[in-house]
Amino acid sequence: MALSPLLQLRDEALSCTSCRLHETRTHVVFGVGLTDKPAIAFVGEAPGENEDKQGEPFVGKAGQLLTQYLTKVGYTREHVFITNTVLCRPPRNRVPLLDEQRACARFLDGQLDEVMPRAIVALGATAAQALLKTQDRIGALRGSWWTWGGIPLRATYHPSYLLREPNKRVDFEADMAAVLRLLAT
Ligand code: SF4
Repeated sequence: MALSPLLQLRDEALSCTSCRLHETRTHVVFGVGLTDKPAIAFVGEAPGENEDKQGEPFVGKAGQLLTQYLTKVGYTREHVFITNTVLCRPPRNRVPLLDEQRACARFLDGQLDEVMPRAIVALGATAAQALLKTQDRIGALRGSWWTWGGIPLRATYHPSYLLREPNKRVDFEADMAAVLRLLAT
């Protein structure tokens, strides 16, 4: 039986050597969750150490914070789709370079095109800038609706930033409240 386009894309990603990040990865970290019109697709920056080890996005401390938030608002990880701007861990968790982001854009775009979420949440500046093709700071991108491929997009803080700056969690929750209001209409 032929693979679905998303599984074909995953297969391609698992053997991808299109950028230097393939040299140091343990696992390619493809998106997980609901793959058929999920309420939300979360896009983070890049896999970290735990994600690289386990081959799953957002499973470290930042991922646990995101999962806790989802539980609080009545969702589980299985209700949403979760992925990253690049699928392989940058060494020492540095920000993925622009050429790495560009090399991986076909996987990010392909995942979002295939799962067709009702809303996209860009977690942090790297994801927001990659999706919106801008260099604007996250502070300038928060608080407004944007679109990606016709899908409403909201930019907010990355959970790893919220771990360092817990006082910003109220702003994250305000951003997410706007998303939940949209989903309720
Ligand atoms: Fe390929 Fe993306 Fe991994 Fe680079 S980060 S090797 S483009 S899958």
